[in-house]
Amino acid sequence: MTKVAFVGLGRMGHGMAGRYLDAGFTVTLWNRSKAKAEDLIARGAQWATSPEDAAIDADAVVTMVADDAASREVWLTKDGAAATMKAGTLAIECSTVSYQHALDMARELHGRGLIYIDSPVTGLPNAAAAGELTLLVGADPADLEKARPFLEPLSSTIRHFGAVGTGTVYKLINNLMGAIQIAGLAEGLAIAEQAGLDMELVLEAIQSGVAASPQVLRHSKRMVARDFAGATFTSALRHKDAAYAVRLAESLLSNAPIMGRAAVDAYERAKAYAPDDDEGKLIEIVSRPK
Ligand code: NAP
Repeated sequence: MTKVAFVGLGRMGHGMAGRYLDAGFTVTLWNRSKAKAEDLIARGAQWATSPEDAAIDADAVVTMVADDAASREVWLTKDGAAATMKAGTLAIECSTVSYQHALDMARELHGRGLIYIDSPVTGLPNAAAAGELTLLVGADPADLEKARPFLEPLSSTIRHFGAVGTGTVYKLINNLMGAIQIAGLAEGLAIAEQAGLDMELVLEAIQSGVAASPQVLRHSKRMVARDFAGATFTSALRHKDAAYAVRLAESLLSNAPIMGRAAVDAYERAKAYAPDDDEGKLIEIVSRPK
């Protein structure tokens, strides 16, 4: 039976690992904290004592962890997955990492004979659990074909942007645009509140107006109501993605105003305020009266 090692069982990874069980794969799991694996173990997954242990004899290793530092740790530390993977094994990075990190990992893992592809995702945790993510892939076309059986259980759409790293470029611009939209929404709502407008009317106008992107639709009602229950994407993750994207913008756009910097600053403060709460809580920082 095809064996997949899955590393990182947070909001997204937990559902993704479950998809491999649904699809009949042999699944070994590792997460920094074991408690998040218990129900998957009850469904038939095998627990591993380290990423290296999980990766023994795996046909593919899939990671879904927070950031560059976590990715480096689970692939490359002394008990990281790469320590045991056989030449030709697939290393599939679904975490949102920086562009430079994706390139560095590709170089390091190719040097060990492994096939690294970046496949960050869009979609919320419910889409992860339902196998309805959109995968944003950077890979050599032949490597993508080898990886496809491991990508299909996770996704309803696979978009191939080009060579390794390009999936990450798209993911970062997507999340930078989201950060700017959410920060702009928080600022607009805060102005309306401080100016004493009827916020039900403002909400109705925003939701039927030309600025009503899916991000604005998703966050406007929650921001006005100050209802941030059931966080799906946190301020810490939004800050990380926007900061990685701004670093990329700075390397590619010479002498341009980098609009994302303001969003990064805003999210730095939201992260300091409540890192693991919903990203929409940004409004609580923006809307404080003078
Ligand atoms: P999460 O719930 O915060 O989970 C983060 C995962 O990373 C956990 O498994 C955590 O382990 C692990 N981790 C963090 N630092 C680590 C370290 N130093 N060493 C080993 N493991 C470490 O985050 P998430 O929402 O699932 O997001 C995971 C990735 O998907 C991120 O890159 C995020 O940007 C991306 N993403 C998220 C969403 C979303 O809607 N949430 C959507 C698309 C993409 P513990 O469980 O032990 O803390």
